[in-house]
Amino acid sequence: AHLDQIAATNDDLNSYLHVDAAGALAQAAASDARRLKGEPLHELDGVPIAIKDVLATHGLPTTAGSKILEGWVPPYDGTVVARIKAAGLPILGKTNMDEFAMGSSNENSAYGPVKNPWDHTCIPGGSGGGSAAAVAAFQAPLAIGSDTGGSIRQPGAMTGTVGVKPTYGSVSRYGVIALANSLDQLGPVTRTVLDSALLHELIGGHDPKDSTSVTTPVVGLVEAARQGAAGDLSGVRVGIVKELQGDAWSAPVVERFNESIEILKGLGAEVVEVSLPNFVHAMAAYYLILPAECSSNLAKFDAMRYGLRVTPEGDPSAEDVMRASRDAGFGDEVKRRILIGTYALSSGYYDAYYGQAQKIRTLIIEDFKKAFESVDVLVSPTAPTTAWSIGEKADDPLANYLQDLATIPANLAGVPGISIPSGLSADDGLPTGIQFLAPVLEDARLYRVGAALE
Ligand code: GLN
Repeated sequence: AHLDQIAATNDDLNSYLHVDAAGALAQAAASDARRLKGEPLHELDGVPIAIKDVLATHGLPTTAGSKILEGWVPPYDGTVVARIKAAGLPILGKTNMDEFAMGSSNENSAYGPVKNPWDHTCIPGGSGGGSAAAVAAFQAPLAIGSDTGGSIRQPGAMTGTVGVKPTYGSVSRYGVIALANSLDQLGPVTRTVLDSALLHELIGGHDPKDSTSVTTPVVGLVEAARQGAAGDLSGVRVGIVKELQGDAWSAPVVERFNESIEILKGLGAEVVEVSLPNFVHAMAAYYLILPAECSSNLAKFDAMRYGLRVTPEGDPSAEDVMRASRDAGFGDEVKRRILIGTYALSSGYYDAYYGQAQKIRTLIIEDFKKAFESVDVLVSPTAPTTAWSIGEKADDPLANYLQDLATIPANLAGVPGISIPSGLSADDGLPTGIQFLAPVLEDARLYRVGAALE
């Protein structure tokens, strides 16, 4: 059914870059066979899934939304893909994304924008617009996204889906085409909180192939979601983040947010306002740390080992080939961030930029620690606005960066976050999202509160 839906809608939505119908059907048949034999099955065995094209899949093209990787077929599976296959979930295909996961609208994909299933003239959010649109449009019941500054949660808000950024290090990054190693995290994109919990437990847990992988087991999430679904939040303290309010937040988003807060109170939660003063510097710090890390990560695309190779006329040197290949292979946003990052890391500027940004990061971690002494979870709208028209902000990087105001602090501090639907805007009828954040390794709290509000 999902393959039929893809066939009927993908030419228009452009949410999948690659569909593996034959592979998915073979995996589904194998799942049926296991079921008939009465073998013990994972709860998600046979449930199909879409994978963001940032994650290596053995035998399936993996582009990270970039021309520079066009035609690359990985000879191995990322750990999350390996776990998904081992549990018997058929892989439907690879989803569209902003190039190297840089963006908030999916318009930075080298393979064209994705349309928001709610309004085909609008963006679906980014960078994981393809995964979010696929789940929202019933092209997949589950998807994997990656969240470096909000790329699971913000598209979730824009498409009315559930998106989770797990605790940093609790889901393996092995096989992820890195954007910024210290911020990147894979996570679930689904239609319900319980679905996210099931998928999160499946993909989470220690992996010796990832040097930043934590050893604490990822358990208790499904149980927390089931507990939350009973709708009793008495004893749960929820903190509204003072710094994530104000003029930057559109009235229709705030209206739905306030409504959700009233629902939380009705379920017994105690709601207070808390201040995390250094959040106001989070964006500035992020847009130094991320370009610094990505400029270093993207240095490996040198046209020598794999990926696009453009050979200029005449007798080009290796450097001429690299220059021509990187010029042709990278889009504007990628080049912008490589330039910013290279500048910020250059000798003489390190202390002024990267060093300062890391200090802010520490202050934000301290803010979180202090806030979580008095509340169990923090809450804010996920994104300042609903989805906007395709093309409207395409030439305005800063307008896109502002989308991440509420989502970035979690990545800087490594804490987990969830975005769940918060109702439709009274203005344009498009989805809004509400975000909860919890302390490191307390992901279960997100599922309890999220399932209660859902
Ligand atoms: N929109 C953010 C950016 O452009 C988030 C990216 C992400 O989470 N991958 O960097």
